[in-house]
Amino acid sequence: MTWNPVTGCTKVSQGCKHCYAERMAVCLTAMGSDRYRNGFRVTLHPDLVDVPRRWRQPRVVFVNSMSDLFHDNVPFAYIQRVFATMRDCPRHTFQVLTKRSERLAELAPQLPWPANVWMGVSAEDARVLGRVAHLQAVPAAVRFLSLEPLIGPLNTLPLEGIHWVIVGGESGPKARPMRKDWVDSIHRQCRAARVPFFFKQWGGVRKDLTGRKLNGRVYDELPGVLQLA
Ligand code: SF4
Repeated sequence: MTWNPVTGCTKVSQGCKHCYAERMAVCLTAMGSDRYRNGFRVTLHPDLVDVPRRWRQPRVVFVNSMSDLFHDNVPFAYIQRVFATMRDCPRHTFQVLTKRSERLAELAPQLPWPANVWMGVSAEDARVLGRVAHLQAVPAAVRFLSLEPLIGPLNTLPLEGIHWVIVGGESGPKARPMRKDWVDSIHRQCRAARVPFFFKQWGGVRKDLTGRKLNGRVYDELPGVLQLA
């Protein structure tokens, strides 16, 4: 499930070009949603910061699917509050994903890193691979890469200290193509480094037609779990 104590964002790289969150925000604003009264501008929702504390059953929570927690317009004190909630809810697993890896690396020493917080960076092509080095310096129990939407080759992935790699193609209108040799290369690198590999989708304008099999099988590996055929 998702938890969005912040909504709205601004674009930082080519991976943002067809941002799904922006498309959703535009729709929700048009539908009159109060949460999206500012459209896609960064908006804090302090009333939502403590909501996970009320969930009794353990949940896997994707944090800020509609924003980027490390956006410059999110005050450090607010990020600290979000992390305090995650720390105080060890029954839930929180997945935090950012493209603002520099700010992440800068703030990480002042944040708590309990085992239930998985921290990831997105990288869509080699131009933004520097984000991985920032992540490698973060003392999270699980560090993961989201290589989605993959729009270029990543033939020299730095995988030291990385616990999980997710790969996916872009979907929806004007989706940019993902080549199979790019995916095969990432898969080979993950295998060589024994890093779990999750292949999410081929994507495309009709992702239901392209599916999520790679070389005839589904790859749903998770941190600590390799499915060796
Ligand atoms: S960082 Fe994420 S949420 Fe922000 S514009 Fe880019 S893709 Fe959208």
